[in-house]
Amino acid sequence: MGGFFGSTSSANCVADVFYGTDYHSHLGTHRGGMAFWDGEKFVRFIHDISNSPFRTRFENDFAECITNDKLKSGIGSISDTDDQPLLFYSHLGKFALMTVGLITNLDEIIKDFLADNSYHFAAMQSGEITPSEVVGALINSKDSFVEGIKYVQQRIKGSCSILILTDSGDIYASRDYYGRTPVILGKKDGSYAVTIESSAFLTLGYEHVKDLGPAEIIRVSNQGYETLSEPQYEKMAICSFFYVYYGFPASTYEGINVEESRYKNGAKLAEASCVPADLVAGIPDSGVSHALGFAEYSKIRYGRPFIKYTPTWARSFTPTRQSTRKHIAKMKLLAIKELIKDKSIIFCDDSIVRGTQLMDQTSIIRKAGAREMHMRIACPPLLYPCKFLNFSSSRSVLDLATRRAIKELEGENADISKYRDPDGAPYKNMVDILREQFKLDSLAFQRLDDFKKALGLKGICTFCWNGEDVSMPHECPHGCHNCSQTKGCLPPEKK
Ligand code: SF4
Repeated sequence: MGGFFGSTSSANCVADVFYGTDYHSHLGTHRGGMAFWDGEKFVRFIHDISNSPFRTRFENDFAECITNDKLKSGIGSISDTDDQPLLFYSHLGKFALMTVGLITNLDEIIKDFLADNSYHFAAMQSGEITPSEVVGALINSKDSFVEGIKYVQQRIKGSCSILILTDSGDIYASRDYYGRTPVILGKKDGSYAVTIESSAFLTLGYEHVKDLGPAEIIRVSNQGYETLSEPQYEKMAICSFFYVYYGFPASTYEGINVEESRYKNGAKLAEASCVPADLVAGIPDSGVSHALGFAEYSKIRYGRPFIKYTPTWARSFTPTRQSTRKHIAKMKLLAIKELIKDKSIIFCDDSIVRGTQLMDQTSIIRKAGAREMHMRIACPPLLYPCKFLNFSSSRSVLDLATRRAIKELEGENADISKYRDPDGAPYKNMVDILREQFKLDSLAFQRLDDFKKALGLKGICTFCWNGEDVSMPHECPHGCHNCSQTKGCLPPEKK
């Protein structure tokens, strides 16, 4: 995952870009970057932020730039994977570009480009080509930024929201074709800004102007903004996990605040699956707001028997090595025995992905002497790995706890679709296997219809729960969405 923030101002924009980008640090933990236009050239910084927070890692760059009054436009990135912003020099001029999303047909697009022997990409040390470079190549293959971004929207599979800083100091912002990630425009005196997390506006003084619609492209200057390509809402599919887990609680997307949506979701969960208990508690962080909603609805006392030690530990789902994830999950959660011993407790958590963290948590709770342990999960079982945003960095479907349970039930070639129905026997058997694995007295997941009712938003992606994808089926022979052969979606043009 990742996030971005861009600002264009009549004065120095460095502080806004620096802090605005930092407010996306929960969305990525490996790479950070900023680029500013000084009227003649780009000033760019990229650092590894795996072992040091964004603000610490970029404080020298910040100090160097904060007094430079030429730096009135800039963009910043947080990413799990990509070194960006990338700088381009093409027939479109000089520009800096960054993307957020996941492109699953990258190899196919690269192959098409390389079929033309005059094209090349800069490889990273790992030998891979960064997705943003491929996006830049697609944009450069067209006559304007708008045509280029539309072409990206046609060609890629997965998702891609884009920020471009041009050599006029203007910023182009575009939201993924299906709106999987939010992109939000704000303004204050003499400045406009674009962000993924609206919470980044709060302390920087920006007022919300609008959420870009799916596929919308805008150009922003310090004077205002212009919509260059209208949004399409028919196939909107914002990632539901922004509300359940990823999103920062103070953010609001599509008019729905994340924290408030979690209270409502927790209340709905209580309505469907409450049991008698002494305490309701949340697994930090996002389980807490769901638990508050659960406790309020159920009238069972809320408590905090788990406290998370956050200052120095990275998010535990991000590392791809199982041993690292397990170690981080174990070290950062501290239990308060005095609140647990002899109690029957309902715990709320956002989701079960691999189950790594839940396994450790349940063992800690048992050791602390809980009488009963009931787990309530704020979303339906994750049955399909995300193919749009790289949620959970899974290497295999069997990374998912549900898929391992299904394998245990009926081997490798099970029909997964029958496990979607929460009233069906296969679903109940799968949940029972998970309950036994985690040694819980009871386990219940939010039902999809209840989740939708609690959220109250149409146009959400639910693929990881029910395998339904608004971008399918498509007819394009190149595998692109939003086009058919007759509409002329062709491989990259030869130069
Ligand atoms: S598949 Fe799940 S995690 Fe991925 S975009 Fe859809 S809702 Fe979000």
